[in-house]
Amino acid sequence: MAEKSFKYVILGGGVSAGYAAREFANQGVQPGELAIISRESVAPYERAALSKGYLFPEGASRQRLPSFHVCAGAGWEILLPEWYEEKGISLIMNTEIVEADVASKTLISAAGEAFKYNVLIIATGSTVLRLSDCGLRGANAKNIFYLRDIDEAEQISQAIDAKKTGKAVVIGGGYIAVEISASLSMNNLDVTMVFPEPWCMPRLFTAGIAAFYEGYYKNKGIKIIKGTVAIGFEAHPNGEVKNVLLADGRALEADIVAVGVGAMPTTTLFYWQLKEEVGGIKTDAFLRTNVPDVYAIGDVSSFHCKIYDDVRRVEHVDHARRSAEQAVKAIYASEQGTTIEEYDYLPFFYSKTFDLSWQFYGDNVGETVLFGDPDPKSPTHKFGQYWIDNGKVVGVFLESGTVEETEAIALVARVQPAALSMDEMAKQGIYFALGISGHSGVSITVKGLKKTHSGLPYSP
Ligand code: FAD
Ligand code: NAD
Repeated sequence: MAEKSFKYVILGGGVSAGYAAREFANQGVQPGELAIISRESVAPYERAALSKGYLFPEGASRQRLPSFHVCAGAGWEILLPEWYEEKGISLIMNTEIVEADVASKTLISAAGEAFKYNVLIIATGSTVLRLSDCGLRGANAKNIFYLRDIDEAEQISQAIDAKKTGKAVVIGGGYIAVEISASLSMNNLDVTMVFPEPWCMPRLFTAGIAAFYEGYYKNKGIKIIKGTVAIGFEAHPNGEVKNVLLADGRALEADIVAVGVGAMPTTTLFYWQLKEEVGGIKTDAFLRTNVPDVYAIGDVSSFHCKIYDDVRRVEHVDHARRSAEQAVKAIYASEQGTTIEEYDYLPFFYSKTFDLSWQFYGDNVGETVLFGDPDPKSPTHKFGQYWIDNGKVVGVFLESGTVEETEAIALVARVQPAALSMDEMAKQGIYFALGISGHSGVSITVKGLKKTHSGLPYSP
């Protein structure tokens, strides 16, 4: 059996792997010391682009590689394949690891190659849930798509070109479904969304926030069917999907079906070897697992969220980037016998569709108050929401914020100022946050809010 040996191995070649490689370079990794092993065929890229720019119509700021390799999303140098070569970092692509043994520090690929390491960083991300795995009738028909990697994005892009102005059914009401629906609609497909909940994005949105986006989508011609699920598919004789069958008895014609019904952290290789918590690989404040020299970052890691004193797992790019940086810094600190500060993560999620763009910082617990103008027909689209728990403002959502306003809501989520009355919060709206951030005269310096050189906390 062929065997290769590295001081450091990153397993997975996605967002966190790319940002970890950058930090290895910052720390002075030597040629030949680091390998990234990935089942994908291209160097790490900003996965978030796949449901947005990658699916845009040609000419409408459509994105293709190399423009969105990491670290494009943070506004830093774009790490092209040549960058890894120059640094002596081995990109071992098209290589799926099928066995991992943390006791002997060995990974085995599907082709039978063995990879030995001193330090392992697990960065295997999430695995999409598939309707075929749930046994849905006809779920293997052609033109039923999922979206996790660039090959799948390319398949959707080609289907969009082939089925111009056809009918698309999007199954799901979460992040993927909301973003893909917009991209399909921008391509002039006739889009219908189907999901079981009473409103879209229920993991984060309240009814008030969702009403804006649903109204906006309806104005764009997107149809939304709630309170039911897909139970099967019918296909044309050529194998292409023809109808989506719903639990409420309806059949929806479809040329393209896009499915976004959730994802699971990709941890199976390490079952029984590493401790798990809240569905992910348990790590400490330095992203270390319970086994020495094994770290876990990005979607797969569960970690102690210092600000809320609880354990979380976060499936968003900001944590992927920051946990990567923290783990690599921790590895070097431990080699040098020094220490670094504990991971102090402030949850940050964002999305962009059509000409909309929202950001959320903090925790979505407690009472809520909407502010601004949440009318889908409003010319500004500027509205937001505060979450208030135990008298403190713990979370803020903002649509169409400026750089200043976005900085201000991040700061509010971090410092958790005392809330005013609900009426006053609604009345002050974004000015409450601007006041806290000093744009209205009060200035607070907050430890742990890392800024990019653009001044924004890591930009999307
Ligand atoms: P990933 O980026 O998924 O990388 C995992 C890597 O591991 C992949 O290369 C995979 O092929 C590889 N791998 C897994 N198992 C193996 C194995 N056994 N052998 C070899 N390689 C393996 N988040 C946001 O905050 N904002 C957004 O707008 C946003 N948009 C998104 C859009 C889409 C379409 C998707 C799918 C996700 C989006 N996310 C967004 C979520 C964000 O992209 C993820 O949280 C982030 O990619 C996690 O990084 P990661 O490195 O943990 O995993
Ligand atoms: P999700 O958990 O956000 O949403 C899943 C949705 O599918 C839910 O609304 C659920 O009710 C619905 N659903 C489940 N079964 C269904 C069925 N049979 N029929 C219809 N609807 C059904 O998951 P996702 O949207 O698939 O996203 C996958 C991953 O990608 C997540 O980790 C997410 O964080 C990440 N992502 C993030 C962003 C972002 O942060 N902007 C964008 C895209 C993807």
